Amino acid sequence: MPVELLGKSAEELRDFVVSLGERPYRGPQIYHALYVERRFDFAAMTNLPAALRERLSQEARITLPHIARRFQSVDGSIRYLFSLGGQVGDNATKPAQIEAVFMPRDGRQTICISTQAGCAVDCHFCLTAQLGLVRNLTAGEIVGQVLVALEENREHLAPQTNVVLMGQGEPLLNYDATMAAVRILLDPKGLGLGPRHVTLSTSGIVPGIERLGQEKIRPSLAISLNASNDAQRDALMPINRKYPLEALLDACKKYPLKPREYFTFEYVLLGGVNDSPDDARRVVRLLAHIRAKVNLIPWNPGNLPYRAPTAESIAEFQEILVEKGVPSFIRYSRGQDVFAACGQLASMETAGPLVSLQ
Ligand code: SF4
Repeated sequence: MPVELLGKSAEELRDFVVSLGERPYRGPQIYHALYVERRFDFAAMTNLPAALRERLSQEARITLPHIARRFQSVDGSIRYLFSLGGQVGDNATKPAQIEAVFMPRDGRQTICISTQAGCAVDCHFCLTAQLGLVRNLTAGEIVGQVLVALEENREHLAPQTNVVLMGQGEPLLNYDATMAAVRILLDPKGLGLGPRHVTLSTSGIVPGIERLGQEKIRPSLAISLNASNDAQRDALMPINRKYPLEALLDACKKYPLKPREYFTFEYVLLGGVNDSPDDARRVVRLLAHIRAKVNLIPWNPGNLPYRAPTAESIAEFQEILVEKGVPSFIRYSRGQDVFAACGQLASMETAGPLVSLQ
């Protein structure tokens, strides 16, 4: 059975080529071809001798996520629906569908990727939750989403790439594969992205946050807050019953932030639910003594029983935070017309006003 190479580190590739009786330095050469040159066909790895390329084509394989559908938004974003696993002869992973979103803007592209197919966390405002957990993704399936999105758009890439792990799934519940992929993204000899340009978003898995704090190389951390007290958060995010606000914020206070590093708290504003001035004042108190900024994300009306906040409530909420010294920004989700916006990634074959490219 050929060995899957996508998602392997330089060391793992070195061990693999040594197991074939090759010189160790061939491993980092394959690593360079995969992640820097984005060559996914052994025949195109011209930095390797022809005999090794031939050998690799028998002993190994490179499986990229397969693009099942593309949806082009009017705002330039592209939502990719990927099929994973389940190829003939593939017993390692069961078939699954996931999504990623490519968002070009202002001299950079931001790529939102998934770390699990579906999700077990059950946030009530999130369509992905309705899928339940299908399965964890492998490191190769996670990093592969970035590689495919870059390759697909290679003719018009901006100099800066940001990656956000905010698609389907809770990254800290698929910790090892997620971090293996993140290390490749952050490795100067891999994709070479800066730590501030890779953001992992969690619903607040406290043991995962504590573990991440011990990593030498790690992404920026974003935490979905979405509520200003435990009762409200219990109702929106049942994970809060396991890791309530006090435990979550305590983990943040103990997290060894580097100089100039800060947390991003994501706060989806749900009209009439969590968007009052009192909510804003409580958020200020919760985040006292934490180096943080807050992204306010007005709810995208969709299939769930929530309504969008009014323009006045958004502005007042932000004003209270900023007045009290909590930097806060309003982030409108992109790709709403193709169901690519926050909380909308649910493997939908959308019936919305979209332009399908495939
Ligand atoms: S918001 Fe994130 S953690 Fe919560 S259910 Fe959706 S995908 Fe899972």
